[in-house]
Amino acid sequence: MSIKIWYQTEEQEFLHAEMQHYFEAVLQMQAEKASEQDADLKVIVEKEDTDMDHICIELHGGKGKIQADSQVGVLIAVYRLFHEFGVRYLRPGRKNEFFQVLSGNDWAEKEISIEETASFRHRGVCIEGADSYENLRDFIDWLPKIGMNTFFIQFENPYSFFKRWYEHEFNPYAEKEPFNTEIAQEMSDRIDQEMKVRGIVHHRVGHGWTGEVLGYSSKYGWESGLTLPEEKKHLVAELNGKRELFDTAPILTSLDFANPEVGNKMVELIVNYAKERRDVDYLHVWLSDARNNICECEHCQKDLPSDQYVRILNQLDEVLTKEGLDTKICFLLYHELLFAPEKEKLKNPERFTMMFAPITRTFEMSYEDVNYETDVPEPKAYVRNQIVLPNSLEENLSYLFAWKKMFDGDSFVYDYPLGRAHYGDLGYMKISHVIYRDIHFLKNLQLNGYISCQELRAGFPHNFPNYVMGQMLWNNTRDYEELKEEYFSSMYGENWKEVITYLENLSAYSSCDYFNAIGERLNPVLSARYEVCVNLAEEMLPVIEANTAKRDGLQKQEWKQLGYHREYAMKMAEALRLISAGKHTEAQRMWRDVLDFIRRNEMAFQQNLDVYRVIEVAKNYAGFKL
Ligand SMILES: [Zn+2]
Repeated sequence: MSIKIWYQTEEQEFLHAEMQHYFEAVLQMQAEKASEQDADLKVIVEKEDTDMDHICIELHGGKGKIQADSQVGVLIAVYRLFHEFGVRYLRPGRKNEFFQVLSGNDWAEKEISIEETASFRHRGVCIEGADSYENLRDFIDWLPKIGMNTFFIQFENPYSFFKRWYEHEFNPYAEKEPFNTEIAQEMSDRIDQEMKVRGIVHHRVGHGWTGEVLGYSSKYGWESGLTLPEEKKHLVAELNGKRELFDTAPILTSLDFANPEVGNKMVELIVNYAKERRDVDYLHVWLSDARNNICECEHCQKDLPSDQYVRILNQLDEVLTKEGLDTKICFLLYHELLFAPEKEKLKNPERFTMMFAPITRTFEMSYEDVNYETDVPEPKAYVRNQIVLPNSLEENLSYLFAWKKMFDGDSFVYDYPLGRAHYGDLGYMKISHVIYRDIHFLKNLQLNGYISCQELRAGFPHNFPNYVMGQMLWNNTRDYEELKEEYFSSMYGENWKEVITYLENLSAYSSCDYFNAIGERLNPVLSARYEVCVNLAEEMLPVIEANTAKRDGLQKQEWKQLGYHREYAMKMAEALRLISAGKHTEAQRMWRDVLDFIRRNEMAFQQNLDVYRVIEVAKNYAGFKL
């Protein structure tokens, strides 16, 4: 049986290939292109005035249409159509999609009438961690399948993230693979193409402009061990009477923003980049990635860092306008820049999108839990090079609200549930629920979306946190229990409720914050809770054994993943039980066991656990040693 499809816009090769795949795999139908008159299914992309994705799907008696107002929107609508036929996009990668094979009769009998507008404009993810080319490609491919429209490549290209993977940093058991700047660039170009064919909204760069001003390419990320040449010294921040690279890393080095040469150079670099990269929709202009490194010269002392920042942004806007460039500029509330400006204001708010980045926030509670009437303090006054970043949501939000008074343009939260904090949640259910509740509440904060700064391989034992994120950003009225059933019943089959109970218990007895260096290191109460986690994982073995034996296909693979995760959770909980009890020698011994297990078995769960990143966080935050 075949289906004839008419595309209103030409050049829909990717979309058509997706149609062919899903019609054949799910409905056993051959999809063919046809003229408008002969078509069973019409695919229409019509730009509307609003910049919120809007989709429409109609199917009656085997004939229908799919309409959207953007390229990524129509892709979202196609995946949504197949969702109606039972396809569940459980993890990145086609091999992780669950469905029952149907037939042309099911197509002919199905009645669908869907008209929906996305709840938020910005629905995306930003690259972090260690990633192979395939990890990155599959993740981008997954975004529209779960309702998202945006991807953010940090830096000039993903070199740093590829390098960690191909050189297998922190995993001496793996063989290094060939890697260099040319390989990274070639992969980067292919990734840009993957975004382009899908119409993904493209965000890029972020940190790195400050280093570029000094002549260091932003593509090398957090590269360190460098020495600043004498002739560049007048451009960098004066700290304790000296002008040097901060911790030998260009990306961490702040500049002397009172020196007009700095602003001029930075604006020139950014404008040139915007000219060359018209495919970048949102260009991120951030300062250095360190704190308490702000210039102490007598001129800088007169200004807040954020006043100097806004001055440069205004200067940038003027030149972009003069050059006729409509690139949107994202500016960042982070570190020193959390403190709102006192003198300057953005003159052309249409140019800018504000990004609130509460990187040190707690994930043990949600924006929805804050008492906005009584508990949000006045923002603290800025004290140069003595800032302490807040863990509480209340204090973080106090900075957002102060900024909102001077800027009421487009904005979103750049949040971090899956960058560090998730490793502390051994069941991934607590973090899922915090994401759900944060997004549920987001409109109350007058934020127009969410970009998650995260490990792309954040799926151990499941990718429900990202699934919830995507679904809620598309439709913020979804029911949590319904989302759980939709996801886990496909992933694990008939005994899915038993898995959820187990995972929710693991989550209840573990702590996102502890692993992320928030709170006292000696914590006997938490130590006792980790012991419960160990017992929970121990007791789950017979259930996992029985279900793995019983199932086949994708669900068998998922039960096996749960088995690997059970062993990991048991070892990790034991290491955390010991370290939170103050038993450092024993804790370190147990941590070696965790390390050996994840390194030795990395390829068995490569897509789901970022071994590089969990080790880095355990070492830099949780308190373990490498
Ligand atoms: Zn200065």
